[in-house]
Amino acid sequence: MIPLAEPVLAGNEWRYIKECLDTGWVSSVGSFVNRFEEEMAKYLGVAHGVAVVNGTAALHLSLIIAGVKKDDIVLVPTLTFIAPVNTVRYVGAYPVFFDCDPETLCLDVNQIAQFLSRECERRGDGMAYYKKTGQRVGAVIPVNALGHPADMDALMEVCRQYKVCVIEDATESLGSEYKGKKAGALGNIGCLSFNGNKIITTGGGGMLVTNNGEWAARVRHLSTQAKKDPLRYDHDEIGYNYRLTNIQAALGVAQLEKLEEYVTRKREIAARYRELFAGIGGKLKVLQEASWAKSNYWLSTIQVDPNAKEPLMQYLIDQGIQARPIWNLIHELPMYKGGNVYGESTPHALHAWQTCLNIPCSVNITNDQIETVAGAIKNYFS
Ligand SMILES: *Cc1c(COP(=O)(O)O)cnc(C)c1O
Repeated sequence: MIPLAEPVLAGNEWRYIKECLDTGWVSSVGSFVNRFEEEMAKYLGVAHGVAVVNGTAALHLSLIIAGVKKDDIVLVPTLTFIAPVNTVRYVGAYPVFFDCDPETLCLDVNQIAQFLSRECERRGDGMAYYKKTGQRVGAVIPVNALGHPADMDALMEVCRQYKVCVIEDATESLGSEYKGKKAGALGNIGCLSFNGNKIITTGGGGMLVTNNGEWAARVRHLSTQAKKDPLRYDHDEIGYNYRLTNIQAALGVAQLEKLEEYVTRKREIAARYRELFAGIGGKLKVLQEASWAKSNYWLSTIQVDPNAKEPLMQYLIDQGIQARPIWNLIHELPMYKGGNVYGESTPHALHAWQTCLNIPCSVNITNDQIETVAGAIKNYFS
């Protein structure tokens, strides 16, 4: 079996976890938590990192500190893993779904600009309100799809004009770059995930990163039950139990030491697939980064004819090669059906859903295995 993307734990993980067990610092306070936060913030070039239980919790807290409230709207791509959209509902706000850019598969920034300038009005507070419903635009969540950063300069510019908070969902794009700057560091808030399938893992984990010190302090507070006093049970708002444990952070510190190596390998894997598929012609396209981006190629993704996607996936699985489709469009899922979709349809997201297939790309995949995967796909088409 060649897995899609399995974790590799071959560095200092054992050593650091042993230190936690030997010293008894296993829970949500400890030196590895601090180290992980500091080293990640330094790596990204942001002022603050707050480690939390997972990427979904980071997104949830982002919306709270951005001041997103019940009945606000939050602008999201329909082509995404579901987590960011669910967190919009956690705070009682509603998603408005947008199409993706056909090349990067990230949020179509032109559509966001059009929506804000044509469909919204600016009120006295300087914020944008959706003319059709009167709802306030609370935030936008650009998701860096499959590791590729969104076109952030254009997005930041238009969102600044309308005071819309930009929460960069960089859960898939750690190690990627946008015009030389690290993904995760580009919005007002960045969210990371260290789930088992991500480029580095803590088993489960996440981090919220920001340059805003007040926000970082509030996230720390909210993620520890809004506890005001270390001794007395004094709480001043409704908080959450969202902190990462020292054991998980120990894994994180060890994994972060390997990140650059992993990004290099992921990029090599994508490049190798591109070479191997070069002669195959119009039947298959390998997703590629934009000229302004450096992708971590978290996943290697091919695009095939809509009629070929399902049978090819089954063909690969039958040969012990794990392959997976891209996410179902969120606005088509039962709990989000009938929600607001900008422009009423999302043709590029639909096309991506119909054609994209993710193929094995663990950082420890061997070059022989890459050839096996590519060979099987070429066999299918011949
Ligand atoms: C993985 C992922 C998340 C959530 O991260 P968890 O750590 O699994 O909660 C959020 N958004 C996207 C796009 C993801 O891929």
